Amino acid sequence: MADPKGFLRTPRREAPRRPVEERVRDWDEVYVPGGLLPIVGGQADRCMDCGVPFCHDACPLGNLIPEWNDLVARDDWRAASERLHATNNFPEFTGTLCPAPCEAGCVLAINQPAVTIKNVELAIADRAWDEGFVSVRPPERLSGRSVGVIGSGPAGLAAAQQLTRAGHTVAVYERDDRPGGLLRYGIPAFKMDKRRLERRLRQLADEGVRFRTSTEVGRDVGAAELRARHDAVVIATGATQWRELDVPGRDLTGIHQAMEYLPLANRVGEGDLPVSPLNAEGRHVVIVGGGDTGADCLGTALRERAASVTQLDIYGRPGDERDEEAEPWPTYPKLYRLSPAHEEADELGSSPLAHADARLFAASTLRFTGDERGRVRELHLVEVDAGRRPRPGTEQVLPADLVLLALGFQGPERRPGGLVDQLGLGADARGGLSRDAGFATPVPGVFVAGDAGRGQSLVVWAIAEGRAVAAAVDRWLTGATVLPAPIGAH
Ligand code: FAD
Repeated sequence: MADPKGFLRTPRREAPRRPVEERVRDWDEVYVPGGLLPIVGGQADRCMDCGVPFCHDACPLGNLIPEWNDLVARDDWRAASERLHATNNFPEFTGTLCPAPCEAGCVLAINQPAVTIKNVELAIADRAWDEGFVSVRPPERLSGRSVGVIGSGPAGLAAAQQLTRAGHTVAVYERDDRPGGLLRYGIPAFKMDKRRLERRLRQLADEGVRFRTSTEVGRDVGAAELRARHDAVVIATGATQWRELDVPGRDLTGIHQAMEYLPLANRVGEGDLPVSPLNAEGRHVVIVGGGDTGADCLGTALRERAASVTQLDIYGRPGDERDEEAEPWPTYPKLYRLSPAHEEADELGSSPLAHADARLFAASTLRFTGDERGRVRELHLVEVDAGRRPRPGTEQVLPADLVLLALGFQGPERRPGGLVDQLGLGADARGGLSRDAGFATPVPGVFVAGDAGRGQSLVVWAIAEGRAVAAAVDRWLTGATVLPAPIGAH
């Protein structure tokens, strides 16, 4: 370590964010451009080389965190980039988006704020691009085998890059018009600039990955035809089957799924639409659901200049003893995350209720009511106790003329006659596509990776699954592999 006692001198400092008033007027990332570099060396030096790096274990990718912290503290950015890319194909995706389980594992966090590992990761990735350390690495020889990857989210992209570098010829099939999965049309640009995605896609294309966009496997190309075209197939189609809210008034117009709303806002950013048909400007917006997807709707609605925005969370406020009883540690803390969008909503006072936070906890939707033209106008809610039972006398009515449902996802889509049907794939207990510990389905040569197998998860797990499935496919094709497999499928 450059200085194993650095943490005694340097307090934790996170990447500075732009002022709320400024950042809600644009779609750029919330952080001050260049704000990380002046502080990141000192932050990396807070890593105490603890000997048993739980951070390393807590990261699904097994990132070599103490090693690259040390290299950054010593100002050796090229070597830091090499160590970072040894375990992570897309460190700027995780550096911007990951909730950083590594920081929860940091030993320093026992009695000090954790090392800002995620910020250090992003600084290394940014510097690597700026200084040309990120290279195109086409394979030295081709194997003569080909792989079809279905889906171009982080799992499909990681699998495609690993398999291409191993010498296989890879085609990625994507039903959308552009590759990227949820990084493209789900996650807003203020969380991760799309240019970060674009330059990785260029890198993959330059290494030999072929993208077949606007191609839905199961509709435009049959599963049997795809299997005939390729020696192996990886299904990385995500877990996009959204949950519904079955309450009176759900049929009123103006009530939409988050993943109907967010893709349109992202398309405005891509230049496809001048304005989103679901634009929140001047509307009272209520978001039902307290997770990441709901927070992304919140930040988007604020930028679209909604008249008011409220987010309802069925879970209790953090620290609420009633809820800790119902959702004991370690489940409970995972339910709550404070995103920059919440900071924005609080500072702008986005709630329509006097003196209320934008985020209402322990709140359950009873029904919607509308006007004579069938448009939603109010959302009726009730407070719930730890068992999610309504607390009598706590009903409230919120003005609502745009309601966004962000209630999570149930697993991959299963359209009658679609991809999953054509392959006859079953589901596991959590709704993911059944597979064995080596990512293989019962159909020979067909593998599953990412949210399609794991269920709704995180970018870091998707990349880890993509890397691991590539190792499994490589072994299946050639009988052996040197590709790393950071995780198993279960
Ligand atoms: P996806 O990213 O879902 O990609 C699957 C792709 O497959 C899609 O492009 C889809 O169009 C394509 N596809 C599906 N069926 C077919 C077919 N038959 N033929 C061809 N293509 C097909 N995680 C984080 O770590 N941090 C965050 O901040 C975060 N924010 C999120 C915000 C939102 C709004 C959502 C919905 C999720 C968020 N997540 C976040 C979760 C994260 O985005 C996912 O876990 C991750 O993208 C899963 O990657 P994947 O490659 O498995 O699937």
